[in-house]
Amino acid sequence: MRTIGLIGGMSWESSAEYYRIINQRIRDQLGPLRSAQLLMYSVDFGPVEQAQHAGRWNDAAQILVDAAKRLQVGGAECIVLCTNTMHLVAPQIEAAVSIPFLHIADAAGAAAVEANTLTVGLLGTAFTMEQEFLKARLAVQGLTVLVPDEHERQAVHRIIYEELCVGVISDASRQVYQRVIESLAARGAQAIILGCTEIGLLIKPEHSDLPLLDTTELHAQAAVAFALDDQAV
Ligand code: GLU
Repeated sequence: MRTIGLIGGMSWESSAEYYRIINQRIRDQLGPLRSAQLLMYSVDFGPVEQAQHAGRWNDAAQILVDAAKRLQVGGAECIVLCTNTMHLVAPQIEAAVSIPFLHIADAAGAAAVEANTLTVGLLGTAFTMEQEFLKARLAVQGLTVLVPDEHERQAVHRIIYEELCVGVISDASRQVYQRVIESLAARGAQAIILGCTEIGLLIKPEHSDLPLLDTTELHAQAAVAFALDDQAV
């Protein structure tokens, strides 16, 4: 089994999900007492979040480059960055290490293509919904990506930072997300990419008429596939 390197803490609410899902899947595939070989470097989200909202992406990148290097030195054989938003600086991280970087958009895009849902709605932070780093990578895989309108994007973004990243799960916010999903469906979305690693804590398959492509699940699955790929299990 190969050793997975997780960069976590953004937020730790979702990093805990990665840890749980990866170990659950290793157990399902290899047997009851089997578990993942992994390292997690969990950053303090505070300075990262401040850098994001101030547009100081290079400062945030430095924190994550440092984390990736530490993981590589510690024996990690791949890097899994446990947040969609910070994939904005994925190129810097990839360039700083020699081990593979498992991009979150590749995991999500492959699942959409496999399900033949080529028009997808994308929910995430404003950075993820408005900038190109994730959308362009999905488009390359053949997907048409729809994002909510500006008013909806603000609500989706606010709920992520003020609630989901601090462990607050509320029915009222779930209803907000459900309305956004309905309007994306009315515009032609065939599936919804949960493009923020905390959204799966709020929105489960039973809360949506459209199929959900949860980046946390799919990215964790990609990590497991990588870990087991060498057959030396
Ligand atoms: N975990 C979130 C994401 O997947 C948001 C927190 C962050 O800004 O990193 O985008």
